[in-house]
Amino acid sequence: MFRIQAEDERSGARAGVLRTAHGDLETPAFLPVATKGVVKTLTPDELRSIGAHGIIVNSFHFLLRGRDAVAKAGGIHEFMNWDRVIFTDCGGFQLIRKDFSFHLSDEGMSFKLPDGTPYLLDPSGSLRLQEEMGSDVAFSLDDCPQLGSSEKRTLLSMERTTTWAKESLVARESENTLLFGIVQGGGDAELREDHARTVAELEFDGFGIGGLGLGEPKETTMAMVEASLKGLPSASPKHLLGIGSPDDLGHYVSAGVDIFDSAFPARNARHGTFFADGESHDIRKRRFEGVTDPLEKGCRCYACGEFTAGYIHHLYREKEMLAMRLLSIHNLAAVETWLAETRVSLREGTFSRPVRV
Ligand SMILES: [Zn+2]
Repeated sequence: MFRIQAEDERSGARAGVLRTAHGDLETPAFLPVATKGVVKTLTPDELRSIGAHGIIVNSFHFLLRGRDAVAKAGGIHEFMNWDRVIFTDCGGFQLIRKDFSFHLSDEGMSFKLPDGTPYLLDPSGSLRLQEEMGSDVAFSLDDCPQLGSSEKRTLLSMERTTTWAKESLVARESENTLLFGIVQGGGDAELREDHARTVAELEFDGFGIGGLGLGEPKETTMAMVEASLKGLPSASPKHLLGIGSPDDLGHYVSAGVDIFDSAFPARNARHGTFFADGESHDIRKRRFEGVTDPLEKGCRCYACGEFTAGYIHHLYREKEMLAMRLLSIHNLAAVETWLAETRVSLREGTFSRPVRV
């Protein structure tokens, strides 16, 4: 299921392969975010050309809207016409971010469906939803505390997440869906490592590191990821949930994270920011007017192969949709290319931690 192919001697970085029902995911891997069943503005063909082998969908969104349509299509792969790997997030994290009105209890999350029906999302219900969608990698429901929660609240979230993890494992039905458990523990390194050790004892196929990237200082995120990794078995795949800006990837790959997902590269693209030569640039700036070079020299993406930065600057200023699409293609391709090169360097034993994508 997960095989480590090469390990760096000077850091925790490694290259591996996660085998799923929809093919292999080579790690370290980045999953573009397709919250509602689409990586915003892009087609599956474009994702393939970028080099993406996996994406992550939020199962919770489909609970609110689209569940029947997905079932009718025969699953999320068929529904969105993507035949490669699909991870599904259980959605606890999104609830917190969107300021959604809900009530948390030991049983699960209670809220109202769009038609007003009260609904309790519990661990087995969350897993049933993800399996029903045909997810290749599902996450057990977790209780994700808000940034700055008290120690008491953090301890409660750890306890609940552990109980829910056990319930999820009992509720497993599909052999085609791998199941990852989630590590919580707030911003306390000791609690993080402690919770990681607890979840590590359960029979999961891999582990997600959750509850981070909520606005805490970067040093805290890094320390919490390292503490979580310390408590997890080295043979298992580890997924850092919701984090993956170009500045972060090098650090976390070196620490031993195998899988990332983040809306950052595509969201930045839609706002006019693109990554090139290890820096972020703003396409709206006057200096791109009439530029006849591509966004990044040497980049093999469709946007750089076909268009000049001057043209994309013009499109963006005219608020043309194609600008967002081309910038999204470029940014996601930059991340995928960086990771592909990282995997090669790990296998060849020449890995050295680059500063950023
Ligand atoms: Zn490019």
